[in-house]
Amino acid sequence: MPLEAFGIPAACHLIGGVWTPGSRCLPLHDPSTGALLTHIALGGAAEIDRAVQAAHAARAGDWGRMTALERGRILTRLGQLILTRTEELAQLEARDVGKPLTQARADAVALARYMEFYGGAADKITGETIPYLEGYTVYTLREPQGVTGHIIPWNYPMQIIGRSVGAALTMGNACVLKPAEEACLTALAFAALAQEAGLPAGALNVVTGLGAEAGAALAGHPGIQHLSFTGSVGVGVLIQTAAAQNVVPVTLELGGKSPQIVFDDADLDRALPFLVNAGIQNAGQTCSASSRILVQRGIYDEVRKRMVAAYGALTVGPALSDPRVGPLISARQKDIVQGFLAKGADLTIAAQGVLTPEASALGHYMRPTLFAEVPSDHCLAQQEIFGPVQVLIAFDDEADALRIANSTDYGLVASVWTRDGGRQMRLTKALHAGQVFVNNYGAGGGVELPFGGVGKSGHGREKGFEALYGFSQLKTVATWHG
Ligand code: ADP
Repeated sequence: MPLEAFGIPAACHLIGGVWTPGSRCLPLHDPSTGALLTHIALGGAAEIDRAVQAAHAARAGDWGRMTALERGRILTRLGQLILTRTEELAQLEARDVGKPLTQARADAVALARYMEFYGGAADKITGETIPYLEGYTVYTLREPQGVTGHIIPWNYPMQIIGRSVGAALTMGNACVLKPAEEACLTALAFAALAQEAGLPAGALNVVTGLGAEAGAALAGHPGIQHLSFTGSVGVGVLIQTAAAQNVVPVTLELGGKSPQIVFDDADLDRALPFLVNAGIQNAGQTCSASSRILVQRGIYDEVRKRMVAAYGALTVGPALSDPRVGPLISARQKDIVQGFLAKGADLTIAAQGVLTPEASALGHYMRPTLFAEVPSDHCLAQQEIFGPVQVLIAFDDEADALRIANSTDYGLVASVWTRDGGRQMRLTKALHAGQVFVNNYGAGGGVELPFGGVGKSGHGREKGFEALYGFSQLKTVATWHG
């Protein structure tokens, strides 16, 4: 039982600080081998309701009474605990998500880093005093939203818990977390470590289960004051609709079709690893994956040649053997991605990665695929695939690049590769994206950097201090004293 090392009994939720056995359970499989990993509890409306009640009790009790400094110390302690357990967490994530070990280790360290960052920030969020009419003193207070619901996907559980639950706890909210049914082991491990770090009972509750059951119950629960969701556009619309019924704010992070734009004056030696990695990291199952590579015509053949060579070195295998690319999360996800490949039958496949002999037929493996000469309006250049597939698109000039880059419904991340300073600034301002990178992609994913999208990529910002404003509300106090 993989969670034993964290003191977590099998198939339990964490509700009000107590590991509570589920009345039903669901088998969880290793995407690399198809082997049974464990069973998780299958919660529904009843468990969600108990978790929301427990969160309210925590807000009314010890957790609600804590100072910002005390909350910050708990988060900082949690960060330190996570750092002592990164290898175990990485192994757990690698087996649960099918994520190559190097990436899983980076995710565990990032989780710790979120706790360090937010632990340190907890007592640095202040209000302001506002000059006003004669006889008044006016100031603002930043207060928690209350009880926050967090519905997260299976692709980066640790990182998304860090940026979402970490920020919410920092501001004094109590959380109910519903991880994805495909991969939720590190969410449970995180909750166990949070208890060990001194987080009071009920400040963080975890209910595992299906989206349509536990997820829908959480999204529609009238006791929730803020919903944070990362996942597909379709489910995001359901979450926002449910939140509207209770008139609560939502943060939605819904994915993208993020471009990298390579001009003919770019430093190709520097660009190349980013062009490829940003597309195949986590087998392309990354909201901010760069699935479109836009290349100026004069260097198109050269970039294509270099990317083809890089694809030839992309090994695909089991997560624990630490290949460049692991399996997809499930047979369902593989079917979806294969469906897209079928829609690309009219296109040219320029290169594919290589399956290693350890890649068992029972795992959900797919060779990364690079399509070349793709028209910018082709469905493979417009729709999010969420698999290891990139398209190469040629453009003529700056105006053409901008038109193509901004031509999808999404707007999460974009990057510009050029040495021309004026062009850097013009594109930075004109690109539809929540984050723009110049001569890099992702900037190492820093926890300090506000993240979120425009258009169908969602709204609201996570990470950095910006997330703390999102997980709090402002009260304006005007005192008349004559
Ligand atoms: P993906 O397609 O990548 O699996 P989803 O958007 O389906 O992404 O899932 C992301 C998260 O949303 C998961 O935790 C899932 O259980 C949850 N979810 C799925 N359907 C619903 C729903 N109808 N209501 C609330 N949550 C849901």
